Amino acid sequence: MSQKVIVIGSGIAGLSAALRLRKKGYDVTVFESNAYPGGKLHAFESRGYQFDYGPSLFTMPHLVDELFDLYELDSEQYFHYQQKDTICNYFWDDGTQFTVDADEQQFVAKAATTFTEPEAHIEKYLKNSRTKYDRTASIFLEKSLHKFNTYLSKETLKALFSLRKLDLLGSLNGVNESYFSNPKLVQLFNRYATYNGSNPYHTPGIMSLIPQLEMRFGTFYPTGGMHSITKSLHQLAVEQGISFHFNERVEEVLTDGKKTTGIRTEKDQYEAQTVVCNMDVFSAYQTLLKKEKKPNKILAQERSSSALIFYWGIKKTFNELDLHNIFFSNDYPKEFDFIFNKRSLFDDPTVYLNITSKEEPSQAPDGCENWFVMINAPGNDGQDWESLKAQSKISILKKLSMNLGEAIEPLIETETVLDPVRIETETLSHQGSLYGTSSNSKLAAFLRHPNFSSTVENLYFCGGSAHPGGGIPLCLLSAKIVSDLIPNSK
Ligand code: FAD
Repeated sequence: MSQKVIVIGSGIAGLSAALRLRKKGYDVTVFESNAYPGGKLHAFESRGYQFDYGPSLFTMPHLVDELFDLYELDSEQYFHYQQKDTICNYFWDDGTQFTVDADEQQFVAKAATTFTEPEAHIEKYLKNSRTKYDRTASIFLEKSLHKFNTYLSKETLKALFSLRKLDLLGSLNGVNESYFSNPKLVQLFNRYATYNGSNPYHTPGIMSLIPQLEMRFGTFYPTGGMHSITKSLHQLAVEQGISFHFNERVEEVLTDGKKTTGIRTEKDQYEAQTVVCNMDVFSAYQTLLKKEKKPNKILAQERSSSALIFYWGIKKTFNELDLHNIFFSNDYPKEFDFIFNKRSLFDDPTVYLNITSKEEPSQAPDGCENWFVMINAPGNDGQDWESLKAQSKISILKKLSMNLGEAIEPLIETETVLDPVRIETETLSHQGSLYGTSSNSKLAAFLRHPNFSSTVENLYFCGGSAHPGGGIPLCLLSAKIVSDLIPNSK
């Protein structure tokens, strides 16, 4: 009989860990407190408009394909995606508009003209970004940082020899300012800090590797929206014999004092030789692991930012918009000061606007667009969200109306709002953070929770709050690291 694995949570990392461990011969059961799989990777419909609930930017699709490859299945049978020719449209209040093309040479030439920067500076920046990625990705993203072996590899030694090039000491903003004199280009590259919910004025310069994810490896659109990633992985999991218990919250990880023996849910008790926790680690220690010694230093790490999202059905189409659009704040340092220090919302926020009906018109009624309008927000510490939401709606509408030359409010046919409190309640992510802990400290990578427990044998952790961090690609990698740590079933 196969050995049993229980996975707590069906976020993207939980689904991926379940599939990888099933392939290793385990009898896998996933427990999910919601009625549906996917966690933050979920979707909903409102009056004929389709909306992705959370993630909208899809990078590194091969990490999803790998899960179908494991079973020697053609991922195309389950899941389609297409690479985008343009990455993002940027707008500034002074009327400057800039489209980042997927083609790097085209990007460099256009950016040099629009921002009057020497092409050589932009090329050098991208080359250094590539070096940083190549020197560190295999160590920081693909392996456990908490196993001695990682430090004995050739790649680690290579990275150690190029520490100076990695820009570990200065901030991302400092690095960007050292390359570019135009504040708009600095702001464009500073924005990459938000890809892991961090502050560009604090996160270390090594984060200038993040543009590689989209500029080198490309950005993609999955047919049916981001939620199709969840749907296809869930379908594959069911076909491979993984069992799911929805609407069943896990309340405790059971141990015999040394190793895990199973779980207790709100309904019953279940035995397993191995437990993989996809729940946010902070919340897991508060609820599932109350009796265990807490890794206090790890749990005290600053959380990543959260978000405030307005899902608007808009009864008009806008030719100047694409799938991904950014309308920048006029005072970026102040915006981040509000988010991370004042723990509030700035009245001139950077607005991200995602419109999947640009790729698939069927995502909205004829002649209409499904707008996912997001601003970065502090995590929930009990702020007065009702008043912050009302104020932010006014600021967002002002910015969008001014940049698009048309009053947006009268075009809104349907509205749903997601705030940090809802994110916290619906995904059990502490403070509603999008990406677990922030990368604002230089040691952040080492202070993320390891992919295994140091006190309970056979207890593992995957997902945005564990190593290597949040975002779909990293969550998929966390599941891969967990699976690599677990031997095949006997
Ligand atoms: P989660 O999605 O957090 O899911 C955890 C699951 O565990 C949930 O379903 C929860 O109900 C369940 N659970 C928790 N506790 C228990 C329990 N005790 N018992 C049973 N079940 C439990 N990433 C990108 O790559 N690109 C983006 O563009 C992007 N944008 C984002 C925008 C928003 C608004 C949000 C919210 C996130 C965004 N992210 C983005 C981040 C990305 O969504 C997350 O990093 C990723 O989806 C987290 O996956 P996860 O596996 O950690 O689990």
